[in-house]
Amino acid sequence: STAAAAAIDEPIHPSIQIDHTQLLINGQFVDAASGKSFPTVDPRTGDVIARVAEGDLEDVNRAVAAARKAFDEGPWPKMTAYERSRIMLRFADLLEKHTEEVAKLETWDNGKPYEQAAKIEIPMVVRMFRYYAGWADKIHGFTVPADGQHHVQTLHEPYGVCGLIIPWNFPLLLYSWKVGPALACGNTVVLKTAEQTPLSAIYVSKLFHEAGLPPGVLNVVSGFGPTAGAALSSHMDVNKLSFTGSTATGKIVLALAAKSNLKPVTLELGGKSPFIVCKDADVDKAVELAHSALFFNQHYIHLLQGQCCCAGSRTLVHESVYDEFVEKAKARALKRVVGDPFKMGIEQGPQIDNEQFKKILKYIRSGIESGATLESGGEQFGSKGYYIQPTVFSNVQDDMLIAKDEIFGPVQSISKFKDLEEVVQRANASSYGLAAGVFTQNIETANTLTRALRVGTVWINCYDIFDAAVPFGGFKMSGQGREKGIYGLSSYLQVKAVVTPLKNP
Ligand code: ADP
Repeated sequence: STAAAAAIDEPIHPSIQIDHTQLLINGQFVDAASGKSFPTVDPRTGDVIARVAEGDLEDVNRAVAAARKAFDEGPWPKMTAYERSRIMLRFADLLEKHTEEVAKLETWDNGKPYEQAAKIEIPMVVRMFRYYAGWADKIHGFTVPADGQHHVQTLHEPYGVCGLIIPWNFPLLLYSWKVGPALACGNTVVLKTAEQTPLSAIYVSKLFHEAGLPPGVLNVVSGFGPTAGAALSSHMDVNKLSFTGSTATGKIVLALAAKSNLKPVTLELGGKSPFIVCKDADVDKAVELAHSALFFNQHYIHLLQGQCCCAGSRTLVHESVYDEFVEKAKARALKRVVGDPFKMGIEQGPQIDNEQFKKILKYIRSGIESGATLESGGEQFGSKGYYIQPTVFSNVQDDMLIAKDEIFGPVQSISKFKDLEEVVQRANASSYGLAAGVFTQNIETANTLTRALRVGTVWINCYDIFDAAVPFGGFKMSGQGREKGIYGLSSYLQVKAVVTPLKNP
């Protein structure tokens, strides 16, 4: 639309100041040891928002030393769990109060619609911290009925120093998925943010200290993967690692962990999630849900730009409703509102950076060249920044690159299936196994598909429902371990068995 295009040419200023760009180590803002910094860029324009301290091996060493001291000498793991819980709750309250500033930072740095950041994501972050604050004083082991004359119990203890590495697509949400449970269990943390989106984590971590977090418990290092990220992954004094990002980098991180000190690793990686529309589906509802499953939504607010690891990026539609579905999916994509993410009513902002932007356009070209039918979009949107037209392909074959690779962009790939057996086989023929959507009114069909799909989450007649209590993670090359809920908590705890004779020998 011309209105949206005009807004892109004249980006709206978020009217906030960037106050914090340094590393946060031992409760202090400090420059990188090297004195280096790197630019973080506004995806609407490609302009530099701010320069941020560039952490490196030496900074990671300092941060790990601070986290080590905070763990070994307390006060964090030695505090009562109730006190830890109260600090986390105070932080959640503070964050809630600062929702507007934090959401503006997130939108500026990432390009996601402000309404999504302010109304959905930051509230989810607040909820996540309250959820895990609630767990802090409810973590306990068991007494074990062992054979013989022994009293046996288990203690569920924190690992120690946790290295947390997060990507750029949901900077604060993924911060909460990791920092929340790590701290609730009594661990201390060194967090490495993504180089594309360092700003919001620095800001909220300062709020965490205002809420009473002792120095050294949560350290934030901005910087690049092969330097800061690799230093954290291979550090001999990091006891646990949790990583979210691409499958390729996940393999590197896991290898570094293995080669150094065998620290356990939680991995949340890529996906190529099928969204299956069965023959009995209400096509209008299925179109809307499939659209938002790919382009991302939350509660039918259709936002974001396909940059979600669990995007429903393979839309598989039963042949009896296929033609109608394609027609309506195209119409829906054409109606999608693209523009400056600070404008209200915008569904899709720019992609994160030039690299992703170019990569997505390359995938679109490959879709056209391999013979898929381009129904809508296919090009840059406007002429400035990293905006891409909502793109729909039909007639997509399983061996095409766009059907196999994670595109991480607003590109919907629709293909046809004949029966359930076939769709299960095709849905599972992927090295990924993150999530799947099933759209049907038949409970038997839903049950059959649910049990057959090799994925970590099945959304039936819904998609992208993320609740703090519900576990999330991947089968196959989509990851190891689970985040959120009680399963996410157990990733940050190790079990100690304690055996005592009933009578002194
Ligand atoms: P993407 O940017 O496509 O999400 P990455 O997996 O490369 O994928 O990035 C996710 C996170 O991993 C970022 O914080 C990034 O800096 C970090 N990272 C990248 N390469 C490495 C590496 N070799 N070792 C550790 N972390 C890395």
